[in-house]
Amino acid sequence: MEHFDPAAATQAYLNTMSAADMAKAIAYTRGGHWLILWGFLVSLVTAFIMVKSGIFSGLRQKIDPENRRGFLSGLVVGLVYMVVSWVLTLPWALYANWYREKSYGLNNQTWMAWLGENAMLSAIGAVVGAVVIALLYLLIRNQRRIWWLWGGALVGVVALAGMVLAPVYIEPLLNTYQPAPPGAVRDAVVELAHRTGTPDDKIYIYNGTKQSDRYTANVSGLFGSARVALSDAMFKKNADMSEIRAVVGHEMGHYVHNHGLIGAGILTLLAVVAFWLTDRLFPLFRGLLGANPASGIGDPGAMPVLFAVLAFVSLLATPATNTLTRQVEADADHFSMVHANEPDGMAKALIKTAEYRAPSPTPLEEIFFYDHPSVENRIRAAMEWKAAHMPAETPAAATSVSPATGAATRDHPAAPPPGGQPTGKE
Ligand SMILES: [Zn+2]
Repeated sequence: MEHFDPAAATQAYLNTMSAADMAKAIAYTRGGHWLILWGFLVSLVTAFIMVKSGIFSGLRQKIDPENRRGFLSGLVVGLVYMVVSWVLTLPWALYANWYREKSYGLNNQTWMAWLGENAMLSAIGAVVGAVVIALLYLLIRNQRRIWWLWGGALVGVVALAGMVLAPVYIEPLLNTYQPAPPGAVRDAVVELAHRTGTPDDKIYIYNGTKQSDRYTANVSGLFGSARVALSDAMFKKNADMSEIRAVVGHEMGHYVHNHGLIGAGILTLLAVVAFWLTDRLFPLFRGLLGANPASGIGDPGAMPVLFAVLAFVSLLATPATNTLTRQVEADADHFSMVHANEPDGMAKALIKTAEYRAPSPTPLEEIFFYDHPSVENRIRAAMEWKAAHMPAETPAAATSVSPATGAATRDHPAAPPPGGQPTGKE
């Protein structure tokens, strides 16, 4: 091997995708960007319907005619709000999260199975959500000037509790998690766990293909409940050991670098800003939606207005939250390179995720819509790491590497994929 060029190696990996698969990935991903906007419009329309129906102002009037500072009106109106908004947005959810996924071959469930899971999670969400909503209204009414600060703290506490409890109480409702069985995969993962300081008893395989064939793994939980879980989809797509090591190394990066905790901290700060903006924008939305001008932000009767503002603010925050998660994901990739040292395994695994994340977005598209760095950029980072860490026997190859540029990649002749025949899908 005379000269290893990371840009050419990256392009060679991208070229392993067929034109048809690439077109489908782009259609799916771009359509997904639009879903964010349509989803926001759906929430505006439902808010309008809810305001016009007068259910919520009437309900609050009945429970708490004076709009005192009680917990009860927030709780009851909150519960009704959660149920009504679930019903009103269900057709949209069914389209966006089931039908559309199914039509791209990314969902393995019948609509009944999907609806069953959705209803169960929504019921849990409605009860927990109503309590959180009631607490939020308590804060708004009793800390009128700085409720947004307290509201941010509330979000932080809820996020932490959710992270600790989800692997114990929520995830087992959807999937079966089993410790990785003895064998080569488990040995490799345990070896990597020892190397990275991850507990080796927290490696699970779950039946992710029950929902979809997405090639994926995740780390969830916090403190005692933290764990690494691999979807069985990873084993149905002929993952080789280098891929598994690369992906598990990435997940262990999330674990060891406390990305969950950092994420909760950032979410808290973002929530403070979001609630402050919500406080300022509330009168505008109240007017736009035609709600009673006499009901302030602390009136649970105007709950649909509050949530419409929150939907707007979270739409605005999308590029910011995506940019933060992209940093964290790049850090986990780097951790994997350092500890698992599988740049080609990483590239092969990433190509398998490209079916649901088009690999080469425009820079703006990546900034706005990508919660992971693009597959192209991640493969290039892996190939650059490979170039910089070529074995010592071939120092010439390591030093003659030229930095990759996006433009140069396109003109490069397609080199055979480094590291052997990649196991592309199908
Ligand atoms: Zn990740």
